[in-house]
Amino acid sequence: MSVLAPVNRQWVLAQRPNGRVQVEHFARRDAEVPVADLTTGEILVQNLLLGFDPAQRGWMDDRPGYLPPVGVGEPMRSSAVGRVASSTNPAYPVGSLVRGLFGWQDYAVAAQAGQPQPTRAPDDVTPEQALGVLGAASLTAYVGMTTIGRAAAGDCVLVSGAAGAVGSVAVQIARLRGARVLGIAGGPEKCRWLVEDYGADAAIDYRNEDVGGRLAVLAPQGVDLFFDNVGGDTLEAGIEHIARFGRIVLCGAISGYNDVAPAPGPRNLARLIAQRAQMRGFILLDHLEQTDPALSELQAWLRDGQLRYRIDVQEGFDAIPSTFLRLFNGASQGKQLLRL
Ligand code: NAP
Repeated sequence: MSVLAPVNRQWVLAQRPNGRVQVEHFARRDAEVPVADLTTGEILVQNLLLGFDPAQRGWMDDRPGYLPPVGVGEPMRSSAVGRVASSTNPAYPVGSLVRGLFGWQDYAVAAQAGQPQPTRAPDDVTPEQALGVLGAASLTAYVGMTTIGRAAAGDCVLVSGAAGAVGSVAVQIARLRGARVLGIAGGPEKCRWLVEDYGADAAIDYRNEDVGGRLAVLAPQGVDLFFDNVGGDTLEAGIEHIARFGRIVLCGAISGYNDVAPAPGPRNLARLIAQRAQMRGFILLDHLEQTDPALSELQAWLRDGQLRYRIDVQEGFDAIPSTFLRLFNGASQGKQLLRL
């Protein structure tokens, strides 16, 4: 066993937000390092790197979701990569690098019976890659763009939230499948990444341009596949410009995650009837059997230089809540991470 810190620093959910999440919704707490609590099969993980995901905002609300809400007073649930500090499980030797939902804390007990099991990170993968380009966001892009969206050569594909962790990989997968790709992101800098780094054919800056007007020009025959991470007005614009027999993949709806009540709309759903189009949501957790084949294809693209990515690494335990807020104000510059 490695030398353990004297306390387990945690950021817990202090109160549920009613609207926009703020730093004040979290509180600092020092707990005991739970080394004595391990039962057979369990491990103690020391977190090294945290990953930030828009879905965490949903876990703060007391409503049913695909995972239970985080309880008030509990450490905030979060993806993380850590090193096994103590182990009662031969599948996870001390010192190995593991990935899981270890939370906003220095130490977590993991591999409990009946819970999702941590995954071992391969030796040739860095912690940043394990949470970033080879992590859940990229798997989401892969499943959404291939199995659900069936992106194909000749398609006109539109991706919203396109400069983010999921979106940037979705853009590149569509391009690698031979589609013509349009991306929507906030600001000229992120739009430049879309075209110059990720290979989109054109970018739309939703903060400074009229998305519908630009789609009319860029996709005069309509959009065959719309991979939507944003919802709200962006979804409505995508529906308006969907091609006949088009597909809309609902991956996320980040524009509404801080809303007190769901915004009405989209107002133009009847357009799906006229265009014989379909719209389908999906959750990565239902497609975990695709993890190995997806990862090997993503790794091959990475090795060949065909898959590019950006990470935004903040530093230090105290900065955890403010780093989370970066997802919702456009400050994050790629996959948002924090090194402990
Ligand atoms: P992310 O893009 O790395 O981070 C958030 C980005 O979203 C921000 O940088 C910002 O970029 C954009 N954004 C924030 N508020 C916005 C708003 N009001 N309107 C438009 N854009 C806004 O996040 P991610 O990890 O890639 O996740 C993207 C989406 O996929 C999220 O909706 C998430 O919930 C969803 N997701 C779904 C699954 C699934 O299984 N279905 C799995 C993982 C993630 P700009 O600067 O461009 O505004």
